[in-house]
Amino acid sequence: MAREEELTARLAEVRRRVERACGTAGRSADELTLVAVTKFFPADDVEALAAHGVGDIGESRDQEAGEKVGALAPATRAGLRVHFVGQLQTNKAKRVARYADVVQSVDRARLVRSLETGRAEAVAARAATGPLDVLLQVDLGEGEDAGRGGAVPGELDALAEAVAAAEHLTLRGVMAIAPPQLDEDGTFEAFRRLVEIGGRLRHIHPAATWVSAGMSGDLEAAVAAGATHLRVGSAILGSRPAQR
Ligand SMILES: *Cc1c(COP(=O)(O)O)cnc(C)c1O
Repeated sequence: MAREEELTARLAEVRRRVERACGTAGRSADELTLVAVTKFFPADDVEALAAHGVGDIGESRDQEAGEKVGALAPATRAGLRVHFVGQLQTNKAKRVARYADVVQSVDRARLVRSLETGRAEAVAARAATGPLDVLLQVDLGEGEDAGRGGAVPGELDALAEAVAAAEHLTLRGVMAIAPPQLDEDGTFEAFRRLVEIGGRLRHIHPAATWVSAGMSGDLEAAVAAGATHLRVGSAILGSRPAQR
């Protein structure tokens, strides 16, 4: 019970932060989806968060995520959207395509092919009912900070075409992690670039309306820049073990 009280208090504080940031930015909190990133934390925590209105969770490690989602009560699972947000190896993608509702970290064509195959098989086996939602992860780093995950902007159009051509995938938008070592203004500028990139994608792919940006430390900058999805882990769940 103590854990549940801790979670609800932290969740309430994060929701207050989102509301304050929305107030400052002149946005409505309805425009934002809070994805609680539950990696390293047990299924019981997911149950508790779901009981307090969390409808979206994020996971970043395949094996842990699959087991955790499988351990949820069926009613909890039915009410949740499960986002895979971590680096994804091609050989794990088929499995992720079975239990995830969204994969936010698509950054290369081979991953698109594996996710498509995996989702097609899951649908045929009735393990999934519809297409998998996909976000393209964008590398916002420049110079020395580049190459920390995500496709470079010049690769995005081709990647978007590959997703759009895949029968069992739906392109929903873009995702990024802020480059390290930026101050708040720099982070805001990086997220603005992501929002612009998302806007360009949406011209060609109208369903690609999501912009996933902002974590525990920089969610205010993401709200100000125009993000639609926030991925918040430690501010809700507490600090994770040091290993990754
Ligand atoms: C862990 C993780 C988060 C959450 O990070 P916090 O700083 O704990 O909020 C968000 N996005 C991705 C891709 C992550 O791996």
